[in-house]
Amino acid sequence: MRTLLTALTAALLASSANADTLITNINGIQADDQGQLQHFNGLVIGDDGKVRQVLQHVELVRMAGITRTIDGGGRTLLPGLIDGHGHVVDLGFYALRLNVTGSASLSELQQRLRDYAAAHPDVKWIQGGGWNQELWPDKKFPTAADLDAIVSDRPVVLERVDGHAYVVNSAAMKAAGVTAATPAPHGGEIHDGVFVDAAKQLLDKVTPEPTDAENDQALAKAQEILLSVGVTGVGSMSTRVADWNAFNRAGRAGRLNVRLMAYLSGTESMAAVPHPTGWLYGDRLRASGIKLFADGALGSRGAWLKKPYADSPGSSGLQFHSDAEMIALADRAAAAGFQVATHAIGDAANAQIIGVYEQLSKKYGANRRWRIEHFQIVDPADIPRLAPAGIIASMQPTHQTSDRLMAEARLGTNRLAGAYAWKTVLKAGAKLAFGTDFPVESPNPFPGLAAGISRQDVEGQPPGGWMPAERLTLGESLRAYTRGAAYAGFAEDKIGSLEPGKWADFIIVDRDPTEVDAQSLAKTQVLETWVAGKKVFSRASAASPAERGQ
Ligand SMILES: [Zn+2]
Repeated sequence: MRTLLTALTAALLASSANADTLITNINGIQADDQGQLQHFNGLVIGDDGKVRQVLQHVELVRMAGITRTIDGGGRTLLPGLIDGHGHVVDLGFYALRLNVTGSASLSELQQRLRDYAAAHPDVKWIQGGGWNQELWPDKKFPTAADLDAIVSDRPVVLERVDGHAYVVNSAAMKAAGVTAATPAPHGGEIHDGVFVDAAKQLLDKVTPEPTDAENDQALAKAQEILLSVGVTGVGSMSTRVADWNAFNRAGRAGRLNVRLMAYLSGTESMAAVPHPTGWLYGDRLRASGIKLFADGALGSRGAWLKKPYADSPGSSGLQFHSDAEMIALADRAAAAGFQVATHAIGDAANAQIIGVYEQLSKKYGANRRWRIEHFQIVDPADIPRLAPAGIIASMQPTHQTSDRLMAEARLGTNRLAGAYAWKTVLKAGAKLAFGTDFPVESPNPFPGLAAGISRQDVEGQPPGGWMPAERLTLGESLRAYTRGAAYAGFAEDKIGSLEPGKWADFIIVDRDPTEVDAQSLAKTQVLETWVAGKKVFSRASAASPAERGQ
């Protein structure tokens, strides 16, 4: 105690020339590097927006150099949450375009399309998404004819909830020059107006690009949504060059409030952004890495598996690249200094990319922090290979709760030992980062934090949790959503915890996560969000709750 007080007093005296803010009377909680919870009740923030001191005994110290004191009212304060994997501009477009998320049947999707088309007669291409035929009674994919029945005068392109397929109407197929006889490109499939994985590009080629103004509007909307759910940093995945330009416009204009670690979409982006950038705009933006893909997704049976699908024995999914191609792509990004983040869902794709990273870590070392995005279905024998090669598992806990029944159908119950295996990853000594993959899932991190400790969805299903041995402690789950996601973005010296010298990015929430059960934790409301010591969201002053999927 004596040592602590002496250190505090010295630090406070040293900073007394500054205009510091003391936030007192708070129930501060954060995860340490070991995944243990740390408690604190005061925070001193410098006028540079960085943390000066984290205090355990505010009431015992006479504060020198404090020019402003804020009474936290005993409320719970957490570090700003970092989503390790999200699609920022897409989140904005999801909110601004036709959103059919949660449609419980084809006819509900059709009704939403009918309403949107009537309300937006001037929109020349109707775009949107969020459908999931797994939620429908017959689980049948929608078809072009299903959309034609509602809108036939202009193209309609609706993305599946996982981002790995479109369903389009005949007008869109005509615009793309596609007929029933068009063969699917390698790595894709076409059936009845559904375009899976590589076949999506046939539509992308003809869909009008969003204008700069539309991208700016989507980014602004996305930031509003993220800050309202307590997300102050994001690993911005599959960042298009147009997105990168929008991020920079916002940065220059002082309109970036969420810190973005950008992973540019494919090595082709390197023509426009040839090397990683340092931190820009007060540590608000950085080009960190290149995002690659090893396979598709489980929902559309595009995930590449070691053995055929249990519910489609003729198929083992889609292998996107040969080993040699995959090494060449990752090597090209790494040679330019980029971090490499590769999407891998199936056990074969994960084994392939682990092998690629093992090879490259011999050349570049393990501290390139090779990332595997999703790491969803993994052969348990491959998990111990992560740590020696410095491979980070970037995982999304709400994928587990959303996908569990589908995963059981796709794989059968006896091939799930390495599925969504967070605890096994940690036990194997590897680093774990959490996120949501928004807008595939809601960007709200609290259902994910709760799933992390319960393996249950927001309704508490299934009782006892799905494969409960993979549950984390609250400290481990919070660490994955803060320090873990910061580490995965080479940002742990800036964000992810409240410590002297790091940014004062924090949130105030309406409940203490250590005192509630997982179902209540999932329903946590963010009352305030602060970035660099400034309040950027307040629920009290928000005109309407902006978050999706609440
Ligand atoms: Zn993603």
